[in-house]
Amino acid sequence: MRLVAVQERAPAEHRVAVTPESAKGLIQCGFDVAVEAGAGLEASFPDDEYLEQGVAIERDRAALIESADAWLAVQAPSPEEAEGLRSGSLLMGFLQPYDQHLLVSRLAQKRVSSFAMELLPRTTLAQSMDALSSQASIAGYRAVILAAAYQTKVLPMMTTPAGTIPPARVLVIGAGVAGLQAIATARRLGARVEAYDTRPAVKEQVESLGARFLELDLDVSDGETSGGYAKAQGEEFLERQRALLGERLKDFDIVVTTALVPGMPAPKLLSAAAVDAMHAGAVVMDLAAPNGGNCDLTRADEEVNRDGVRIFGPTNLAAESARGASRMYSRNLLALIRHMAGEDGNIQINLEDELVAGALLTHDGVVTNERIRTLTQETAQ
Ligand code: NAD
Repeated sequence: MRLVAVQERAPAEHRVAVTPESAKGLIQCGFDVAVEAGAGLEASFPDDEYLEQGVAIERDRAALIESADAWLAVQAPSPEEAEGLRSGSLLMGFLQPYDQHLLVSRLAQKRVSSFAMELLPRTTLAQSMDALSSQASIAGYRAVILAAAYQTKVLPMMTTPAGTIPPARVLVIGAGVAGLQAIATARRLGARVEAYDTRPAVKEQVESLGARFLELDLDVSDGETSGGYAKAQGEEFLERQRALLGERLKDFDIVVTTALVPGMPAPKLLSAAAVDAMHAGAVVMDLAAPNGGNCDLTRADEEVNRDGVRIFGPTNLAAESARGASRMYSRNLLALIRHMAGEDGNIQINLEDELVAGALLTHDGVVTNERIRTLTQETAQ
């Protein structure tokens, strides 16, 4: 089977789905690997490194896509480019199935078997394939690095002959995968870190990273679903949470927000009034921006300056640490492909396999995921 990767075309997307390291693993599994010339350059992987691993480097992008038995992508390709895939071939990537209805329909019509990495069940068995987690970790790290760079204070306590300056104070709201990495990064940089989450289990994880759990007078005893995600809270709860957080925000130099509830718009946790109480020079890094943001003032991929408080709403932070993010993402794909590879060196689509069936978006001419099928049909009408 021939596995291909091309240069990503989404704006500000610098990652690549196959690295020289993952190509080596794929070739060891018995696959042929071909990559568009320059596909890895923005992630600091020059063509030479691919060639050394036995990867074919090709210039004709359309011909490469047409030659693919499987196209490994980071982001969803355009519907037009996806049309270039042969019937019966495979596509894997963050295909944004909830938004890309036209792409999903075309993939089904073309009889392409497509896998959306967002849909992969996040079970223990799937940990090595969990691209949402790997990229969220990078985003959490990057959020703190950027916030530290934009911040006029230094993060660690510094004791010098000229005296001592106290550490910066960082608040992380939402301590899932991205939030925990943000906490760990801010701690490594020497900041004094506090964090809050509505899932009670998180307190211990926050404390194990050397941060303090921010206690708010809210009942969160029932805050977690059986799947380990946050439960959606009612408007009354959120209003109280906003008010309580608002009283505390003024103490912090950096606020990183990552709060999400699956399938819902991001909860609004930082009001404009609370931001107004923050001191000039403070930085808010709102990682929930792709889902509408946790702060009322956030604008996706823009900086808002509110009387000296800088609010950022980055939507694709992982792409900014493209080499590290690509290494992790390409390993997630390699793990999924290894999981699916049969002894004959082919990728098998076993519909009985929970992970395969979970991630499968289109197969045999139909949209296999029920929820996406309904959404796609509604758009088509
Ligand atoms: P997520 O991106 O859906 O949400 C981020 C965080 O926001 C979560 O911790 C959530 O509790 C929090 N949140 C939601 N509403 C909030 C509010 N009003 N105030 C404050 N915080 C709020 O979550 P995620 O990062 O994808 O991970 C969620 C959980 O799933 C974590 O426990 C994670 O460890 C777990 N997980 C497990 C596996 C696995 O077992 N393989 C893989 C991935 C994630």
